Amino acid sequence: MNHIAPNAPVLDNFWMPFTANRQFKAAPRLLAGAEGMYYTDVDGNKVMDGTAGLWCCNAGHGRRKIADAVQRQLMSLDFAPTFQMGHPIVFDFAAKLASMAPGGPDAKLDRIFFTGSGSESIDTALKIAIAYQRAIGQGTRTRVIGREKGYHGVGFGGISVGGLVNNRRMFPQIPADHMRHTLDVERNAFTKGMPEQGADLADDLERLVALHGAETIAAVVVEPMSGSAGVILPPKGYLERLRAIATKHGILLIFDEVITGFGRLGKPFATDFFGVVPDLITTAKGITNGSLPMGAVFAGRHVYDGMMTGPENAIELFHGYTYSGHPVACAAGLATMEIYEEEGLLTRAAEIAPEWEAALHSLKDHPNVVDIRNLGLVGAVELAPRAGAPGARAYDVFVDCFNKGLLIRVTGDIIALSPPLIIERTEIATLVSILGDALKRAA
Ligand code: PMP
Repeated sequence: MNHIAPNAPVLDNFWMPFTANRQFKAAPRLLAGAEGMYYTDVDGNKVMDGTAGLWCCNAGHGRRKIADAVQRQLMSLDFAPTFQMGHPIVFDFAAKLASMAPGGPDAKLDRIFFTGSGSESIDTALKIAIAYQRAIGQGTRTRVIGREKGYHGVGFGGISVGGLVNNRRMFPQIPADHMRHTLDVERNAFTKGMPEQGADLADDLERLVALHGAETIAAVVVEPMSGSAGVILPPKGYLERLRAIATKHGILLIFDEVITGFGRLGKPFATDFFGVVPDLITTAKGITNGSLPMGAVFAGRHVYDGMMTGPENAIELFHGYTYSGHPVACAAGLATMEIYEEEGLLTRAAEIAPEWEAALHSLKDHPNVVDIRNLGLVGAVELAPRAGAPGARAYDVFVDCFNKGLLIRVTGDIIALSPPLIIERTEIATLVSILGDALKRAA
């Protein structure tokens, strides 16, 4: 499969993101089509999508309802500003998302700020948090706290709270610090679902408060279940403890739900799944089933109301994007929510999770497997690194799986899995079988 079809494009000009460009262009993998659970590559081979694209195509590929809605919207109102202007569909979509928003009646996160991506959602949430603190008379709170190994996109805000060294080392950052967030593989290896050990990691926020002073800290941001760093699951009680410490010190809690939003864990949001309510939630990806770029920040009413003071003719938040609430993305989003609801996809992960868990853990005794983790329809298989070549073993498995018809994701020596929520039981078996064979060959 690693050759270019006769009609394949010239590869020189596209500077590929997060890719070893020279390595890739020497042996490209090109996807040309997609339907349901499968991609088709340029040679016509079927490749099962084990990652929902990039954790985004929750309802699978090629959804007619989304395509039709997008086409209709393009021909009726292709673009309109949302600065000092509006259009009906952006209010409709915000109301739809608000109706799904987590939080009890008094703490509903139903004020929706639209963005164009997960990175923009994170930068937006950080700016809202800092602006909110200032609006309520806490203007010294300008520092933001993330976690080691956190991934929050690639804006300057996102890399500042992010904790992946390669994303940070080339660039300057805004004032931030990071809570300890080690994945204690030895204590928790092969735990099914949430680990028992490690709620005390949340206490590291107290250390940072003691170090910097609560009066300098605006917000703390975490992925309730971290994805990109290799699927790090929150230990039982951890998020509750983090919530309590943040509240005690007047620090806003932001959940980055760019991956977990829209059904990945078997509830609409991870916030619902874990039963811990933050002040702000960031989303993207599944909001349009990956079909068009879009993100949204869900803000608690108290945050919104805190900003709505001052003269009524004054702009409350000097922030926004040309594509905030793009009408075509809103149309895609509304159609996506209809599909999720009609097909029960927001809770489907919960139904299939037991089979998913059993299938994944059947790989336990394969060569070099040091841990397997799962939650909802997310999985990770962690491998022992090859001596002197970290990441090489998992990369070999990735290439091998692709050539055998399965798309997985790897970070370092961790294989991450997050198939579309439409996956059938037989397809889970196929996925695990292709992966298992590749693990044996990589031994
Ligand atoms: N936050 C999290 C938790 C993510 O997983 C991602 C993307 N994988 C982002 C933010 C950034 O989203 P985007 O790539 O759309 O900017």
